Amino acid sequence: MSTKFVSSSIDWEKEGKQVGDLRVQWSDNLVPLGYHAVPLIYFRKGQGPNVLLLGGVHGDEFEGPSSLMRLIQNIDPEKVSGKIMIIPALNRPAVSVSERNSPLDGKNMNRSFPGNAQGTPTELISCHIESVVIPNCDAVIDLHSGGKASYFTPCTLVTEVANREVMKASLELAEEFGLPTLWKLGEYNDDRSVNSAAARNAVPMIAAELGGGGGSSPELTRASEEGLYRCLAQLEVYPNPFEEELVQGTRIARTVYTEDLNQCIFAPGRGLFDRDCKAGSYVQQGDVAGYFHWLEEPERASVTIRFPNSGFVLAHLNRGMVNRGEMLFLITQETEFNS
Ligand SMILES: [Zn+2]
Repeated sequence: MSTKFVSSSIDWEKEGKQVGDLRVQWSDNLVPLGYHAVPLIYFRKGQGPNVLLLGGVHGDEFEGPSSLMRLIQNIDPEKVSGKIMIIPALNRPAVSVSERNSPLDGKNMNRSFPGNAQGTPTELISCHIESVVIPNCDAVIDLHSGGKASYFTPCTLVTEVANREVMKASLELAEEFGLPTLWKLGEYNDDRSVNSAAARNAVPMIAAELGGGGGSSPELTRASEEGLYRCLAQLEVYPNPFEEELVQGTRIARTVYTEDLNQCIFAPGRGLFDRDCKAGSYVQQGDVAGYFHWLEEPERASVTIRFPNSGFVLAHLNRGMVNRGEMLFLITQETEFNS
């Protein structure tokens, strides 16, 4: 299981728990000879599905990696039925510096699929994941949040695909993960993401957005931990250790999608975003979303920002000074899945 410049230290046939690396060959000042390590933890016992759990695709989103590290400590390899592969920091160079993109090549992992086997470190990793790892998986879960820049109301993401079986399995995972909002990725889905890599391989997948802000929320880290165990139990690869406590997820209350990117609100220039609405709100057309202040040109009158359409605010930008074109609010419409 390797591409030309990415290999691993794992013995895929061996049963038990192994702690190893994906080894990315990239010679630079930091590692002139050797490899850049992406930690990989592998559990295998008996027969059963092969499940891939990912975090740290973006390096400043920590709720997912925290919950995955809890699983790595606590999964008993004797109770596994199949294979569980956990990569808690897929873009490890980015996670190491708490930045969205990799410091090695400046690239955004979730805009780099299907990758390039002869490319830069981020592309080498995404190519390996799409062409070697995901094709051998029965399910993929990829944990995100808004990072330092944004805040998302907690939601799971499922890509709408024509394959009914894949859709059904993905929606079942979303139900088990147990967050109140389901975000359907359709027309405006970026096909350079892990979600698209799974869709191209016809592998069931959910992603999750677990808040944001660049730190980690205790409630959402716990929700992610419990959701992961419910999904592993639903896939019959690992029993839910919380079952006796009857920890239930939240039922999905709404499914939303991006109807039109023009419904989103973008910064009109370089200035101060004075937000007056938060993610998770239903808004009406014309409601005040916030104010935009020309902090560097205070002789200019501030702008009152209003919602151009009614809808559900899925995410908001979580910083003050912003640049023209930055998305201030991600506004979605309710929909249903045709499964
Ligand atoms: Zn992310």
